Amino acid sequence: MSKWKYKLQQLMAGRYGADDLYKALFGGYALLLVLNIFVRSPFLSLLMWGLLILMLFRSFSRNYVKRAQENQQFLRLWNPLRRKWHLSQRKVRERKTARFRTCPHCKTVLRLPVKRGSHTATCPHCKKDVSVRILF
Ligand SMILES: [Zn+2]
Repeated sequence: MSKWKYKLQQLMAGRYGADDLYKALFGGYALLLVLNIFVRSPFLSLLMWGLLILMLFRSFSRNYVKRAQENQQFLRLWNPLRRKWHLSQRKVRERKTARFRTCPHCKTVLRLPVKRGSHTATCPHCKKDVSVRILF
């Protein structure tokens, strides 16, 4: 067992390995795999092979700089989506105790207590007053 582990370490030495883009590609591959069980499309199979080859190419690549740049470009697109997803989850989770509004001055998301009606809140980031209307 440790011999195989050593061989794997030798194989991966100096190679890029897995990163966030790798995980996303793997997620896309898994999604297509499940989808293809029902659809059985040769186009999806081809796309899956493409993703697999791209994943292997990236993780075995020795060009760290280029792969890291690709990952940064991916994260620049992915992180805002992830933030929106987490905020929407939080809105559902805290729906009984809080409402979320965006500050019109600095675009910071404000977490406000549920207090029905129109009132003013002070943004903790830019210290400006924000008029808030909570209907329900
Ligand atoms: Zn603000």
